[in-house]
Amino acid sequence: MKSHAQAVVIGGGVVGASVLYHLTKAGWKDVLLIERAELTSGSTWHAAGGMHTVNGDPNVAKLQQYTINLYAEIERISGQSCGVHITGGIMLAGTRERLDWLKMAKARGRYLGMDLELISVDEAAKRFPLLDKRHFKGALYDPIEGHVDPYGVTHAYAKSAQIGGAEIARHTRVTGLTARADGSWDVITDHGTVHAEHVVNAAGLWAREVGRMVGLELPILAMEHQYLITGDMPELVGKPEQLHAIDFEGEIYIRQERGGMLMGTYEKAGVPWSPRTTPWDFGQDLLPNDLERIAPSLEVGFAHFPALAGAGIKKVVNGPFTFAPDGNPLVGPVRGLRNFWVACGVMAGFSQGGGVGLTLANWMVEGDPGADVWGMDVARYGDWTTLAYTNAKVRENYSRRFSIRFPNEELTAARPLRTTPIYEKLNERHAVFGDYCALEHPLWFAPSAAEAVDQVSFRRSNSHPHVGSECLAVRDGVGLLEISNYGKFDVRGPAAAEWLSRIMANRVPAVGRIALGPMLNERGKLIGDFTMCRVAEDRIFLIGTYAAELYYLRWFDRHLPPAGVTVRPCAMEYVGLSVAGPNSRALLQSLVADDLSSAAFPFLSFRRMEVGMVPALVGRVSFTGELGYEMWVTTDYQRALFDALSATGREFGLRPFGGRALNSMRLEKSFGTWAREYRPIYGPYEAGLGRFVDLKKADFIGRAAAAEERAGGGALRLVSFEIDASDADALGDEPIWHDDRAVGWVTSGGYGHRAGASLALGYVPSSVADAPDGFEIEIIGERRRAKRLNAPAYDPTGARMRS
Ligand SMILES: Cc1cc2nc3c(=O)[nH]c(=O)nc-3n(C[C@H](O)[C@H](O)[C@H](O)COP(=O)(O)OP(=O)(O)OC[C@H]3O[C@@H](n4cnc5c(N)ncnc54)[C@H](O)[C@@H]3O)c2cc1C
Repeated sequence: MKSHAQAVVIGGGVVGASVLYHLTKAGWKDVLLIERAELTSGSTWHAAGGMHTVNGDPNVAKLQQYTINLYAEIERISGQSCGVHITGGIMLAGTRERLDWLKMAKARGRYLGMDLELISVDEAAKRFPLLDKRHFKGALYDPIEGHVDPYGVTHAYAKSAQIGGAEIARHTRVTGLTARADGSWDVITDHGTVHAEHVVNAAGLWAREVGRMVGLELPILAMEHQYLITGDMPELVGKPEQLHAIDFEGEIYIRQERGGMLMGTYEKAGVPWSPRTTPWDFGQDLLPNDLERIAPSLEVGFAHFPALAGAGIKKVVNGPFTFAPDGNPLVGPVRGLRNFWVACGVMAGFSQGGGVGLTLANWMVEGDPGADVWGMDVARYGDWTTLAYTNAKVRENYSRRFSIRFPNEELTAARPLRTTPIYEKLNERHAVFGDYCALEHPLWFAPSAAEAVDQVSFRRSNSHPHVGSECLAVRDGVGLLEISNYGKFDVRGPAAAEWLSRIMANRVPAVGRIALGPMLNERGKLIGDFTMCRVAEDRIFLIGTYAAELYYLRWFDRHLPPAGVTVRPCAMEYVGLSVAGPNSRALLQSLVADDLSSAAFPFLSFRRMEVGMVPALVGRVSFTGELGYEMWVTTDYQRALFDALSATGREFGLRPFGGRALNSMRLEKSFGTWAREYRPIYGPYEAGLGRFVDLKKADFIGRAAAAEERAGGGALRLVSFEIDASDADALGDEPIWHDDRAVGWVTSGGYGHRAGASLALGYVPSSVADAPDGFEIEIIGERRRAKRLNAPAYDPTGARMRS
């Protein structure tokens, strides 16, 4: 084994092998993979090898497409067969809701260039004769589905990497990792130490243990997973290979395996494996079968596919593999650990392994993943992912693998975990809560405790009228909103403003003022949107998306000078309340001594004030589009602030409102939000944030690319639409049609109660963005006429929030 490498990849499962291959492909030849046993000695060897393109996150779906297309390439380079069987696949719907879901999946696939086909039950039975038609209502056919040989794929990656210059050390276990002062690593193994500039944790089942070597607790957990293979079946003799099938109601997947069928299930009563530590002596082992646990699914399977019932069980496989709380991989650089990368928690290695390898290699070699990988960025999880939290969420995710997640469905595991001081008070007012980064926040308020429950639906649900009346209360009087679930950063020091000016595309505001700050990467793409509040010459209070806190900090760390500025995350140190609506000034004025008139405290002002007895940072801004104020206080004061506003608010008709009403109102104002309208695939001009980019500033990150985008106009444009909808609104990810072609996609949608219209925001090519008509947006399989709006649907001049 060599004693020095540019990068050491720990783990020779399908993911580590893919990372190794992609590093060599990107030009790094001095790379070493260290594997404790033989390649595939973790989850990989006993996988069922199934692969598919469909994923809830369109960006992850793209990487799955990439993975499947990659197999021909690594077979060609390595001469090693991947055992690819592209059979095509069907997803079977047994309920109306599932059929709706399939229609939406088909629609989403359309703008990703996928060729998905909605078929009748008769057609499904023709293509997959093993099914009993009585149990199904329709199906979605995907021609690009199939399975591979896990051993072949892993070795094809490994051989291709070796041909590209990589070295592989087998039967060598990494036992420790020590960081050197220059950011490089000593990788300690049972066969000596390797000095590496970069380390990749691709240790699969042992990724947690390798993480712990550097003091990192990764939010992953292995679950036991079982599939069985039937005896040979006469029904398959002389027939082309059967399709892959997913039967959602049975919670099973099924495909042909030689002369029989393979059937696996994500059972409701899933069992974690080695919840605290993975034993090092676990090798190419299987776990004891527990058919009783999956009996309910098998029963449904045998009823839905009767031929299987008589075929007998030839073999049962029970093996563990790892999941993150949301089921998506954990990829990227880890904040606070220089040159330490992870590629783990990959639960669908044969659909995702290629995309994960590509992304990570790009990131390591180019400094940027090269695609929108927010959905699998390790930075999406923070400190709240304790072992027990991860355990509860992974079990929930596993049990819901084939369940529909409705747009208004809040998952219940591990809740409530994080609450603000006013949680009980909001509960008393019949708040229905959602969780965001494990923090409870009110979504809407019901008239009574009995009604405070969401009836899940793809259509407008039971909360619709209540959200509507919250919006109107804000429009006509004043509403109170908990706004604690934002990320906050305290930026201080003599160089704070100068540094921020380089990080943000907009001008840093003067003391006492607020400015919106898009943050760009070097390619001029949006990697954040902030509210910059200037408290003092040397202090800026920065507000952004909470879920992206670590993602932002990772970027800040990279660009911080050695002295002169500090950035302290303080999300839970400062919690907040907002009042919005035409009466909000009068309400707040009766609690503060400061003059709140527009002349004295105009729109986008920011100041320290005493609200009743509470010291607060108060900004005149509101995401609702109404006159409004945001108040930030240290956590110990939030209860008193809430009580003061509630008591005084009575005479002004103060009404609590929640996140759903806020979302409706921001749509009416065409205000975008991070991870929906603003993502690293869009430029600021495309996203309509051009007015917050100050090209007059000497320099800021992404300036050259932003200037180029402005000159060229950008390839895409964010556009607002009013949709001719009936009882369902757009949600996000629906295709936008123009003149009978799917040209773009919706980023957010919903009902605008003040405008009385169904609304959506979405991206279309600039070439069609100005077309006066001809747009349609697909909602649950139906193309609906969509009117492009030239201005926000509500208060287009912004007079109300500036009043
Ligand atoms: C029963 C079953 C069925 C499945 N079916 C499918 C399917 O149909 N389709 C699909 O896409 N996925 C399937 N999977 C999931 C799939 O197996 C995983 O997504 C994939 O194997 C993850 O690969 P990995 O490289 O991340 O991890 P692993 O395969 O666990 O590889 C990690 C490697 O790292 C090595 N290692 C760990 N620590 C060290 C160390 N300290 N030093 C040196 N080496 C170390 C281990 O020996 C191991 O070889 C299935 C899994 C199971 C269990």
